[in-house]
Parts: sequence; C-alpha cells; structure tokens
Amino acid sequence: MDDKAAGPGREKLAAAREEAVGLREKAADVREETVDTRERGIRAAEMTQGTSDDQISMLRQANAQLVIATIEAHKLAEQVQTAKIELDHLAHHDVLTGLPNRILMNDRLAQALALARRSGKQLAVLFMDLDRFKHINDSLGHTVGDQLLQSVSQRLLGCVRQSDTISRQGGDEFVTLLPDIDHPEDAALSAQKMLMTIALPHLIDQHDLHIGASIGISIYPEDGLDAETLIKHADTAMFHAKDNGRNSYAFFEQEMTARAIARQTIEASLRLALERQEFVLHYQPKINLLSGMIVGIEALVRWQHPQRGLLEPAEFVPIAEDCGLILPIGRWVLREACLQARAWQDAGLPLITIAVNTSALEFRAGDFLEYLRATLDESRLEPRYLELELTESILMRDAASADSVLHALADLGVKLAVDDFGTGYSSLSYLRQFPINTLKIDQSFVNQITRNPDDAAIVSAVIGMGKSLRQLVIAEGVETAEQVAFLLAQHCDEGQGYFFGRPVGAAALAILLQAGVAPALPD
Ligand code: C2E
Ligand code: MG
Ligand code: MG
Repeated sequence: MDDKAAGPGREKLAAAREEAVGLREKAADVREETVDTRERGIRAAEMTQGTSDDQISMLRQANAQLVIATIEAHKLAEQVQTAKIELDHLAHHDVLTGLPNRILMNDRLAQALALARRSGKQLAVLFMDLDRFKHINDSLGHTVGDQLLQSVSQRLLGCVRQSDTISRQGGDEFVTLLPDIDHPEDAALSAQKMLMTIALPHLIDQHDLHIGASIGISIYPEDGLDAETLIKHADTAMFHAKDNGRNSYAFFEQEMTARAIARQTIEASLRLALERQEFVLHYQPKINLLSGMIVGIEALVRWQHPQRGLLEPAEFVPIAEDCGLILPIGRWVLREACLQARAWQDAGLPLITIAVNTSALEFRAGDFLEYLRATLDESRLEPRYLELELTESILMRDAASADSVLHALADLGVKLAVDDFGTGYSSLSYLRQFPINTLKIDQSFVNQITRNPDDAAIVSAVIGMGKSLRQLVIAEGVETAEQVAFLLAQHCDEGQGYFFGRPVGAAALAILLQAGVAPALPD
C-alpha cells in the first residue's frame, strides 16, 4: 500500500506492460534463434551434393512463411495480453475520473484492515457526497457535470498522502481510505482540507462553478470492524453532515443508525405519498397588528402518514429536499394553495394573500416560472394574491441569477417575502436591489423579545430597516400578549403565531376568514 491514490492502478498497469514487453523480447529471441537454425540447415543442405536448386528455394520459402506465421502468432498473443491488462484496469477503475472504483476500494480496505488488525492501529473511511450536484447536472447538462466530477477528483488527489486511496463510488459519491491514522482528528483534518479545496470555484465551460460537499467519517475499530460496516457508517454520518447545513463533515455516532433507518423508511414511503394523495395543507393566519384583521394566510404542508399519523414538515421536508422529491411536492402545494385561495374568493370570502414556502430546488428549477404561470392560469388566481416565501440562503447563494428570477416574478405581480429573516446571511445591498415586499422576522428572535435585550434590539433594528427599505415587516412565532405589545410599540406591521391562531385545515380557516379577525386578539 505504498502507492499513490489513483496511481496504484496506473503503476500496476505499467508493471504489467513491462512484463509484457519482457515476454515479447524473449519471444523475439526464440524466433530469431529458430530462423537462424533453419537458415543454418538450409546452408548445410546447399553444401550437400545432390540437393537441387528447386529444393533449396522451396526450403527457403517454407522458412520465410514460417517466420511470418510465427510473427503473426506473437502479435496476436501480445494483443490478447494488452487487452487483458486493459480489462483488468477497467474492472478496477472508474472510466470518467480514472480513480479506483468500488471493487478496488473494497480490496484496499480489506488489506488495510488486515494490517490495522495486526498492528493495532486505527484507520478512517471518509464518505463524501457533493451538495446539490444534481442541480448542476440538471441545469447545465451532463457534460458539464462530468467535467466537474473530473475537476473534483483532481483536487481530492491533491489533499491526500501517497498511502491513501480515493475512489469514486458512482454518481457524485467518493470514498477515501486513510489506512493509517494516529487520531480521529487526522481524519477531520483531511476532511477539512477536502472541503476547502473543493469549495474553490471550478472553471468549466466558461462557468465559474461553486460546489460544496458533505463528508461522513467512520473510524476502525470504534465504528466497525469490517469494510462494509465502516463504509455504511461513514455514509450515515455523511447524511448527518448534510442535515447540519451541508459543506461540513461529521463523525459517525452509534445513535445515527436508528435515524438512518427511519430516514430510509420515510424516503421510501414519501415516494408513494403524492400518488396516494397523502399530503394536506394547513393554513395559518397573518394579522395586521393595528387593525387585528386577517390580512394573509400561509400554507403549510403536512403529511397524513398511513401508519404514523399527521407529520410536520420538519420530519419529511429536509428528506424530500435531499432526494429531489420536494419538486413534485412543492408543485402540488403551489397548485393546491392557488386553487384553495381562488375557491375561497369565489365563495365570497375576503380577498387576502396566500403565502407558499418555496425551497431552493424549486426556485432554481428551469421551469419554475413557467409552472407558476400555468398554475395561476389554471386556478384563475390573480398573481397579486400569491406570495412566495423564500429564505435568505436561496436569495444570496447565487444572487445574480436569483435577481433575474425575482424580477420576473415581481413583473408577473407575485409578492415576495424573505422567510426566517435574521437566521441567514443577507447582503444589504442585494436586499435593497431585490424586489422584496416583506421581511418575516424569524421566530427565534421574536420568542425572546420580552426576555432577551439583544433579541429585542435585533427585532427593532429589522423593523427599522424594513421601514426604510419600504418593506412590510411581519413577526413570526408570536405567542404572547407581551410580544404583541412590544411589536406594536416598535411599529411592526403584521404578526403570525399561536397567539393569533395555529395552522388549521381549510374548513376551519374558512370560518376564521368569515369572521375576518383573529380568534385571539389583545384589547
Ligand atoms: P416557516 O415557513 O417559517 O413556517 C412557520 C413555522 O412555524 C410553521 O411550522 C408554523 O406552524 C410554526 N409556527 C407558527 N406559529 C408559531 C408559534 O407561535 N410558535 C411556534 N413555536 N411555532 C409556530 P411548520 O408548519 O412545522 O413548518 C416548518 C417549516 O417547514 C416552515 O417554516 C417551512 O420552512 C417548511 N415548510 C412548511 N410547508 C412547506 C411547503 O409547503 N414547502 C416547503 N418547501 N417548505 C415548507
Ligand atoms: Mg414560511
Ligand atoms: Mg419562517
């Protein structure tokens, strides 16, 4: 195991080729010897009286043909030998990146484990998955995706030692073996290095591509004694890293296994949930703090799970985002919300705005605008009654392209809100330039405004900023009369939270709309 990561395959290949050359040279020697012997025989026959010229020339011809036949036979044998070497290489390497593949990695890991067992040393397995690679593949095409994978592979090779092995498991997954570590922290350092180098922009096909990755780490012997368990546990830890905000690494912990199983089970039944019509929308009112009137509602998805009952978004939306199912689910939510809003309007209920949460994947999908237009057409809902709630990270990650989509949405007449405001990183100059109508102050700040002076200061500052940018400010997660009083004193426009009403089904919301005011209002 003293060979370089993608190099070992190459070195083996080179050694085998050398061997083939050696064999070839030997065969050529034998060939020459045969020709020489025959030539000597022919000359001896010439000397011998009684051998005719015809006989001599026949002998010479026969000898020449024999030489040709022998050369052909050797050529064929060489081709077979080369093909064998190439096949062997192909069987153990990934064609796109040239890195060792899953089979070779398993071999290496088995060898390294045997060695670690004997020497009592630790080793680490790092399971890496690129964040949102599917998005790049879908939006820029597979050729760009392939080039990005090659670029990532090259960078990864620069991060490890000669003795380490990096393999491509398929798709956007890479597994690294660090066969000899002194402490688990060594693995963490390697992971950090990988994340840092991958995060630098990749210039591909005139695109400056940014990609992150999530890495899970398992350590022998703590996290598993055999190759399969170590890889599986590193994979589980990788999902954990993704949950913790991506572009990070996580060590495996035993309690993750139970979560991983639950997650897989959810993903499998999530795939069937749409066709089985198991999703429902609940609606939560938004209240004008001065008038106490309901001025909007937010649609919040729930999953009526056949065995587990009504599930909150926290239990399935992050999983749906990871496996791409959020796209069809999001479309269902948008259509259902628009149809419902229009149905309420048709029933003569007050005209108010309906807000729909839009995840990053939906917002960046190439046909997002097209689907939105078609849904508004189909539901006959005027665009000004639809509001999209987007998080800061959606807006800021690729601000330039977000800007054009946002302006297209604004031109269409759809309203735009920044959800969970204060929890992400917003560039103020972008906030000014984007056509944003509403800032929704995250509930974590609102929660503490009457207890924590820092949170109170942040909320006041956000309200002030919203006012100066001529944006509406709404406080999320309002639960107490004291919070309402504080928000009113700071001239916050709207509030949403359990204090005014929990999210409820469509029928219950229709009754609230009829009344027009929130069920619980301060005097
Ligand atoms: P969000 O958009 O910030 O929604 C507000 C969440 O806070 C809702 O949780 C709501 O029930 C909860 N909430 C409202 N008032 C209070 C309160 O007074 N106190 C407390 N503690 N919580 C309150 P929910 O319905 O569980 O949704 C959680 C998140 O899931 C949402 O956060 C949103 O990011 C996401 N989500 C919900 N529906 C959808 C959807 O259709 N599509 C997408 N992509 N995401 C959704
Ligand atoms: Mg929201
Ligand atoms: Mg929110």
